[in-house]
Amino acid sequence: MKEKTKRYFLPENEIPHEWYNIQADMTTKPMPMLNPQTREPMKAEDLYPIFAMECSDQELNMTDTWIPIPDEVREMYKYYRSTPLVRAYGLEKALGTSAHIYFKNESVSPMGSHKLNSAIPQAYYCKKEGVRNVTTETGAGQWGASLSYAASLFGLEAAVYQVKVSYEQKPYRRSIMQTYGAQVTPSPSMSTRAGKDILTVNPNCQGSLGTAISEAVELARTTPGCKYTLGSVMSHVTLHQTVIGLEAEKQMEMAGEYPDMVIACFGGGSNFGGISFPFMRHKIKGIEGKSHTRFIAAEPASCPKLTKGKFCYDFGDEAGYTPLLPMFSLGHNFQPANIHAGGLRYHGAGVIVSQLLKDNLMEAVDINQLESFEAGCLFARAEGIIPAPESCHAIAATIREVKKLKPGEEKVILFNLSGHGLVDMASYDKYLSGDLINYSVSEEEINANLTKLTD
Ligand SMILES: *Cc1c(COP(=O)(O)O)cnc(C)c1O
Repeated sequence: MKEKTKRYFLPENEIPHEWYNIQADMTTKPMPMLNPQTREPMKAEDLYPIFAMECSDQELNMTDTWIPIPDEVREMYKYYRSTPLVRAYGLEKALGTSAHIYFKNESVSPMGSHKLNSAIPQAYYCKKEGVRNVTTETGAGQWGASLSYAASLFGLEAAVYQVKVSYEQKPYRRSIMQTYGAQVTPSPSMSTRAGKDILTVNPNCQGSLGTAISEAVELARTTPGCKYTLGSVMSHVTLHQTVIGLEAEKQMEMAGEYPDMVIACFGGGSNFGGISFPFMRHKIKGIEGKSHTRFIAAEPASCPKLTKGKFCYDFGDEAGYTPLLPMFSLGHNFQPANIHAGGLRYHGAGVIVSQLLKDNLMEAVDINQLESFEAGCLFARAEGIIPAPESCHAIAATIREVKKLKPGEEKVILFNLSGHGLVDMASYDKYLSGDLINYSVSEEEINANLTKLTD
């Protein structure tokens, strides 16, 4: 029997030395973000009071295709990268398909998801610029945990505002952050003006991401030597995530294949952009044999900004503190149903992905909660890894594509396994006991919400 390779790894010296900045290659550049007061385009300097300078510059860099990964960051990447590219023989067999299915396994990071790929450089740039404290908000805690660990690597203090209801209902997520030495505050809190204002009116407020963002941004603005960080949506976050796709490109070469489809789940777009953009660059350039690839973002049916939202200028947060962003959005005041893929419950999409979707360089599909968990269970039984509820959407989209193929058709599909679900077993428990339901949003509800914005 000819031995089959199941997993492909890169030697340490082949871990990418640069991230790929797709903005430099895009024919139609993303539209500028605007200052909500003046409606003037924002410059990198306008972001300096909130984000690290280097991240602010990367955010608006439209000229440099390749951005060097600092040696200190690469050294930290080496603790868990390269992540394996896996040929999903088990899943192929379970589906009875002749498609070749590969997945990039980002669940092997110490934090169990891709988020650390950006937490490390963000903490590093803060350290280098003399910042002592980093702050952020977190709902379920995936980003908060990654940032807490990255902060500890570079000797920074991390202050995380966790939505109060998650703080109380998901104590283990909180203890993960505290184990890495972060200070975790349930939001709303009495430590900021924004929090105090809310608690004065409503002492029992359970909090929301919007409030937690306001508290973290206020802390960064009012504390010298403190910066705010974000785990998705922003273009510099997606830039850092391209390490996923750059590795995958080399690993697919080792496997002697090139993907016909690249699929990832979609919250704000960082893991989707991370795996897609390095392959998409060949499509933008029209490289022969590499221009046909389809790129598919899988979002939840309960929060369908790409498939049902509108391309418009909108705020990035519920409270309306951020710049106005040109993006596909359901409206910043959209309240998604409480689905178990918490990382996908975001009303908007990153500005780069929004432009690419407008330009038909990629596609989007929406997936119901039950279909996503069904796919996740099938994958777990076939490949042994319990996927994060977010990642289940990518698996479900992959299965849909496989089912569309003709018998014997040998398409090559690559999807990103953004994380494992071992801290999400409460969600699986609900699914397995039949307690989960589907949520979808009608065009009417979305239009009504978007009209409210423009009034
Ligand atoms: C946060 C998260 C996501 C969604 O974020 P993107 O920026 O869209 O990638 C997806 N999967 C996992 C495991 C996450 O933690």
